[in-house]
Amino acid sequence: VTQHLETAPAATAIAPLFVAGDWQTTERTIDVRAPYGGELVGRVSAADRKLAEAAIDAAEAALASGLALHRRIAILDRATALLQDAADELADLLVREAGKPVRQAEVEVARAASTFRFAAGEATRLSGEMVPIDATAHGAGRLAFTLREPIGIVGAITPFNFPLNLVAHKLAPAIAAGCPVVLKPASQTPLIALRVASILASAGLPDGFLSVLPGPGPELGDALVEDPRVRLITFTGSADVGWGLRARAATKRVALELGNNAPAVVAADADLEDAARRLAENAFSYAGQSCISVQRIYVEEPVFGAFLDAFLERVDRLRSGDPADPATHVGPVIDERECERIREWISEATAAGARRLAGRLVEPGVLSPTVLTDVPRDARVLCREVFGPVVCVDACESVRDGLNRANDTSYGLQAAIFTGSLQVALESARALRFGGVIVNDAPTFRSDQMPYGGIGESGNTREGPRYAIEQMTEPRLVVVSP
Ligand code: NAP
Repeated sequence: VTQHLETAPAATAIAPLFVAGDWQTTERTIDVRAPYGGELVGRVSAADRKLAEAAIDAAEAALASGLALHRRIAILDRATALLQDAADELADLLVREAGKPVRQAEVEVARAASTFRFAAGEATRLSGEMVPIDATAHGAGRLAFTLREPIGIVGAITPFNFPLNLVAHKLAPAIAAGCPVVLKPASQTPLIALRVASILASAGLPDGFLSVLPGPGPELGDALVEDPRVRLITFTGSADVGWGLRARAATKRVALELGNNAPAVVAADADLEDAARRLAENAFSYAGQSCISVQRIYVEEPVFGAFLDAFLERVDRLRSGDPADPATHVGPVIDERECERIREWISEATAAGARRLAGRLVEPGVLSPTVLTDVPRDARVLCREVFGPVVCVDACESVRDGLNRANDTSYGLQAAIFTGSLQVALESARALRFGGVIVNDAPTFRSDQMPYGGIGESGNTREGPRYAIEQMTEPRLVVVSP
């Protein structure tokens, strides 16, 4: 696989997929095209249900053999180092396969390495707890404690937008927990996931603990959901698919990391220049294709004009275009269909009365940062997840009004408040109904050790190695009787 990836972009040879340590080529393939320019980055083998079943069989055998905790830690440590060693090659692949601007791709690689490092650290603390069983007469004379056992086989499904670090957020905690994984990466970005498989094999992960199966989402999703041996489905992607999976997996644990239309409230006492810079950069990074991209900004009325001037000036500085150019901040949207959808949502909003203050199509697939104001409450660019380089900015009467409007959503991943007042910050942290509240930075802030996840339509879990390991283990009670 490494060799294949290094020969891209001219690659028309079929890259194999990874079934329990075995690299296999299939007749069915997926063409991976660069979002920028459209050239063929690679042709990848695609799995079917039969291969998924073979991967689950191998995972079952691996689970039965087990993996000692000290070996899990050593594998995670080695994987961290190998990811760091391969940083340039991995960033280059993110640029070509995902169209991620190279500076942002470098950050993603560094973050993926730190996700493995944090998982190794958490694994050194993987322990159960003592149970005060002699607190009742019934338990007197006995000793009780819990062990943390692997939940079983994990079925992981990942999206295109952070195709390396979100794979890391599934695999690293699963290895720490001792769970074999069958991973289904997004069809737009399978190559980087296969590269992680080769890194983990080099790091010493035993065969059977990992299969990476590119292929059609619905078919492979069904294979994972319907097999009773898969005990946890961990899914990151769009809300409809995620909740649909959960509805069909009544007897499994299902962890969902889904979408959002992230808001930020700017109080009149905020540092407006600083807020404008952070919000502009984080509304348009990777063309807004992040689940916590800034999508809605509510600014207190008295400073609305001053904020807007500063914000538009910052937006104007952001370069759109070729993701391989280190000066580029806003790359292409993942594909033509998505680009068309975003343009349609913008047109729908402007037809309903929104005003466009910035934004246009600069070249095929690349939209420059689009800023809208006076957007009607029911326009999809405001009330649904736009997942593109579009932000809606509006004035609010007060911080309270801004917080109410931020909360006026079915999503609930992360939100932000900009203010110079500690009291307003703390009140806002209580008032904003989201999985995370960021004070004086964009809602887009994420560091990989923090508990990350949403409420409402945005999901039902928290990721970050410590929290994911909790999901991936079961407490087993042991009572020792005299
Ligand atoms: P998506 O279309 O939902 O796809 C995500 C994954 O699900 C892909 O691997 C896809 O496979 C697979 N899939 C599609 N249909 C399926 C089905 N019926 N059953 C099982 N799996 C299925 O999402 P995306 O467009 O790649 O990513 C964007 C979304 O992810 C946004 O909504 C974003 O907010 C969300 N996201 C959330 C987080 C978070 O942590 N909360 C982080 C990043 C992204 P194919 O590629 O083969 O269709």
